[in-house]
Amino acid sequence: MVRIAQERVTDLFGLAQRAAPGDHPELADRYVRLARRIGMRYNVRLLPEFRELYCRSCSTFWVEGRTVRTRLRDGHRVRTCLNCGRVRRTRVGRSVPKGPGGIEADLRPLLRDEGALIDFPSEPPREEPSDEETEEP
Ligand SMILES: [Zn+2]
Repeated sequence: MVRIAQERVTDLFGLAQRAAPGDHPELADRYVRLARRIGMRYNVRLLPEFRELYCRSCSTFWVEGRTVRTRLRDGHRVRTCLNCGRVRRTRVGRSVPKGPGGIEADLRPLLRDEGALIDFPSEPPREEPSDEETEEP
């Protein structure tokens, strides 16, 4: 049963990713809500990559630039839900301790292939001008 629930959750997030850029982004939110409900019902933890994709407070499916804003600040990735304003911080760094109740490791690339469907930045948000680049004469 748990396995079926997990598959269902995966399907729903897939649907959400497809729906988000389309004409009915609200469907994506609905899929997220369903997926979370299934997860709760069967006591299935959502995979870390899925948990990155939506707002925990209002279940809005996050589309970069449209429903979420991502900024890097002081070694944290700060993601603000543009729907309800909730801010979520995750550490950016190496070997983040992960344990029960600990800080989430937040390093895995978000859904490698499917990521192309969402408008997710492949590069960190440019906040500061990069002076590391070598200028050509
Ligand atoms: Zn929200």
